[in-house]
Amino acid sequence: MRIVPRSHTCPSCLTELGRIRAAPDPHYGLPVVVCPSCSLPTVRQRHPDIEFWRRFRRVHSAIRGVVLRIGLTIGGAALIALFVMVSDDMFTIHGQFSPEYPFTTGDPQLAMGALMLLGTCVLLMMSVVLLYRHRSIFFAITIMLGLTLLILTIDYTFVWIERTMAQLFAFLSDTRYPRRSEMMGRFIRFAFIGSCSLLGVVPALLLGGIVDRSDRRRFRRLLNKRRKQRRIHD
Ligand SMILES: [Zn+2]
Repeated sequence: MRIVPRSHTCPSCLTELGRIRAAPDPHYGLPVVVCPSCSLPTVRQRHPDIEFWRRFRRVHSAIRGVVLRIGLTIGGAALIALFVMVSDDMFTIHGQFSPEYPFTTGDPQLAMGALMLLGTCVLLMMSVVLLYRHRSIFFAITIMLGLTLLILTIDYTFVWIERTMAQLFAFLSDTRYPRRSEMMGRFIRFAFIGSCSLLGVVPALLLGGIVDRSDRRRFRRLLNKRRKQRRIHD
């Protein structure tokens, strides 16, 4: 099979217009080609199949991005909430808040566990910020930490629901209401772990800058290559 360049001719004088670059018109941005022989302007149209697949790909990648963002935000919030719940025992001595506890007991396993937990939170926040890009970082952080708080509150609400059900239907419940100090401790730990995870914003911003710059460089390389090709053809 022979490969030929795409071609179309001027409807008025039949000059080949396939090689001429289409400039977007100032009003509608349509790809307008002006015939060099008779200066008749025509609008270049892409094949409808190509247009369809282009639109499909664009919509598909947009939906995938949204799903990925929502998934990571909810998943991240759930994981941080889980970490706060786990840390109920890790960071406390008899329900007393002390963030240095895992590091001062001299237990290397506990210290490692605490470090990994905090490191995971930092990585999580980093990937959330990178995924949202610069546009909506504060939105993403607020949503994620808000969800975490919501999950932590719902966890307590379940205790209340179970206790109420136990009273209503007269069955024995082995849960008890959290003490005020326990609730306070949990939310202070949320503040501690949450602010630790915010450390992830810094590398994310730096990495984001690097990625954006390399994107721009790649685009410029491609543009120069295309320009060179066009020069060879003309
Ligand atoms: Zn013409």
